[in-house]
Formats: sequence, structure tokens, C-alpha cells
Amino acid sequence: GGWWDHVKPAPKDPIVGVTEAFLADPAPNKINLGVGAYRDDDGKPVVLQCVRDAEAKIAGSDFLESISASVSSKLVEESLALAYGKDSNVIIREGRFAGVQTLSGTGACRLFAEFQKRCYPESRIYLSDPTWSNHHNIWRDANVPRRTFHYYHPDTKGLNFVALMNDIKNAPDSSFFLLHPCAHNPTGVDPTEEQWREISYQFKVKNHFPFFDMAYQGFASGDLDIDAKTLRIFLEDGHSVGCAQSFAKNMGLYGHRVGCLRQANILELCLYSEGVLCSNKKQAVAVKSQLQQIARAMYSSPPVHGLLLVSTILSNSDIKSVWVRELKVMASRIKKNRSALRDSLEKLGSPFNWEHITNQVGVFCFSGLTPDQVDQLAKEFHVYMTRDGRISMAGVTSGNVNYLANAIHQVTC
Ligand code: PMP
Repeated sequence: GGWWDHVKPAPKDPIVGVTEAFLADPAPNKINLGVGAYRDDDGKPVVLQCVRDAEAKIAGSDFLESISASVSSKLVEESLALAYGKDSNVIIREGRFAGVQTLSGTGACRLFAEFQKRCYPESRIYLSDPTWSNHHNIWRDANVPRRTFHYYHPDTKGLNFVALMNDIKNAPDSSFFLLHPCAHNPTGVDPTEEQWREISYQFKVKNHFPFFDMAYQGFASGDLDIDAKTLRIFLEDGHSVGCAQSFAKNMGLYGHRVGCLRQANILELCLYSEGVLCSNKKQAVAVKSQLQQIARAMYSSPPVHGLLLVSTILSNSDIKSVWVRELKVMASRIKKNRSALRDSLEKLGSPFNWEHITNQVGVFCFSGLTPDQVDQLAKEFHVYMTRDGRISMAGVTSGNVNYLANAIHQVTC
């Protein structure tokens, strides 16, 4: 025996830990504001109608590996069109992209991190401070050193644009940066279009590589094109970009992941290159083959069922319009909850400024609650969130918003 005696328990993941604490609490009025997955106004997970429609359409499909390859490349093109709009036609026609289907957003980030390490072994990754905690794990496990850049300003609970620009300028030329193109996790703070243009300009000056992690397209504004604006600005400016695209949130396909074919999450990673057509097509082919080789050694191939679901939704115009409508409903429910929470706190006479609840966008509100206040919310009010004070607005409902506001009021006064 003794083979694994030296193995110590790994520290709890901050987000998984919240769910565990929530599940262990027997209180009937408990609220989970931890995970960023969408919930309806009864706090229940949602299977979107577009997913049901797609399921009906693909029922009886033969899940052969031969389908996988052809549908997978169709999916990559459709996702590309979703991200890049009309410009994607040219990119597709000229073959100036390398895209592969991945295991959701997490898998896309990991695949990119491995690819980065393989092609630029000495490089680092710049992550926003703060960022989704798993970004740190992913690049750490890929042995890519991490640096952070300024992003959030605790006083304004908005963007620290000056410090952000300075960090971009002060990073060594040709650095890798991870950017959230919309609905930043965990802060809900996005640069304005004008600020993105300045960031893009400075990236050109410094020859930095922008890697976009787009996990929430549609959740910031309710509109897929508006939320993709950032990517399009960078493309217009002639950058080579990488993009991890997830359908876990905006199609509600987060559940049942690996090992269950029914609702596997799909995602793809695309790398685009600009410049002379010929050499770029060659470059794209090389990049894709490397990505495929890395994926082959990690998990061989991704599941087919979710791939067919996403591809059906994106390629069938009737089903797609159902999806676009449902996405609007989800985004506007979250927006309504932001106003309701802020109103409720103001009506309670809270002496603090809660404008940031409605200024921030997407699924998350970076509340400014301290770790102690978060602990007190859990212990005394059965309200659960990560200790950085991040509230998943998807967990707020018209039924619990006043209770939540009162709890926040009690622990902050
Ligand atoms: N990136 C960000 C910023 C996220 O918030 C998430 C989900 N929490 C992901 C990537 C990964 O999501 P998934 O693997 O479920 O697609």
C-alpha cells in the first residue's frame, strides 16, 4: 500500500464549494447565487424550446463518426458566422481560419492554452484582475506562467480603464491576453465600444495576441450581434485572434456534459489569420492539424449529440429565430432582476450606492460585498454566493428578490 499516501486534498474550487454548501443547507427559503447557469423565474433550470425543437428534428439520427466530421466542420462555420457576422463569408471562402469543436468553453480554453505552450513555450498569459477563477487553473495546468492586468475598480465598481491601458502598454511586445468580449465574469463590467477600439489600437501597436473567451454571447445586450461587436472591431483592425465560443449558457446546454450524449456541451475554438490569402490558408491548415493532434491525445473526439443540437439550431432558420427570441427573454429577465434588486435596496433605505447593480451587464453582479458579509449571508439568511461578492443574477427571481435585498441590507448596515 502507500502509493497515494502523499496525496493531499486539493483546495475546494470556489464555485463548486458554494453549490455544495447550498445543497447541504436544509432551509426551504435558501437561495443559490453561485453558479452562472440560467434559471427561470421559479429558480428552475430551463430546457429551451429551440433545443426541444432541435431534438425532435434529430431524433433517430445515426450517431456515426462519419457524421461527426462533416457536421463538426459545419458547426465551426456556423459558429464563426455567429461571431463575425457578414465578414465571416470571406473568412470561410478564403479558408483563413482554423476551427475545431471542443468540450465546451472550458475545453476550448484548455486546448488553446496547450497550443500556446506548444508554439510559444516561453510565453505567458495575461488575465484580467479578477477573472473567472478557472482561467487560472487552466493556464496553470498547461504550464503557462500567468500575469494579471488591471481591470476592475473597486471604488467605482466599474472599469479601471487608465490602469488597463497602462498594463497593455507595459506588457512586453507580442504578449498573449485573455479578453472577455462581453458580459465579463465575474464583474459584469465591459469596456464601451469606444474603449474597445482604443484597446484594439493599442494591441496593434504592441502586437499583442487577443484570445477571446466568449461564454455569454447574447447575455449582455440580449442581441447576438451587439454582443459580438468586440470581436468584429478586432477583426476590422486586422488582428489575428483566437476565440473560445461556448453554447453552454446561451443555449442552456450546460448540464449533462462528458459521458452523457444527450446534452453534451459543444464549443469550438477558432483561430483566424489575416493577410495574404495563400500563405494564410496554409497557416490555417497547419494550425488546425496541431489543434486536432492535441485534442486527439486529450480526449480523441468530442460527443456528437450536442453537436447536432447546436448545428441544427444554427442552420435551421425557424429554430434559430425561436432561439434568438428565447435569448432575448433570458437577457431581459436578468435585466429586470437587476432593477428590482436595486429598487428594493433603495426602498429599504440603504445608505449605500447600488447603481452598479444596473450598470453592470450579463449574468453577474459584482456586488462589493466583503467575504465576511458573504459568510454572514450564508449563515443567517441561507443566501449563497462566491466570497468575492459575485451574485449570479440568474438566481434572482421575482419571488426572492425582496428577501435577498433585505438580507443584503441587514449585513451591510
Ligand atoms: N469562460 C467563462 C468566462 C465562463 O464564465 C465559463 C462558464 N462558467 C466558461 C468559460 C466555460 O463554460 P463551459 O465550459 O460550460 O462552456
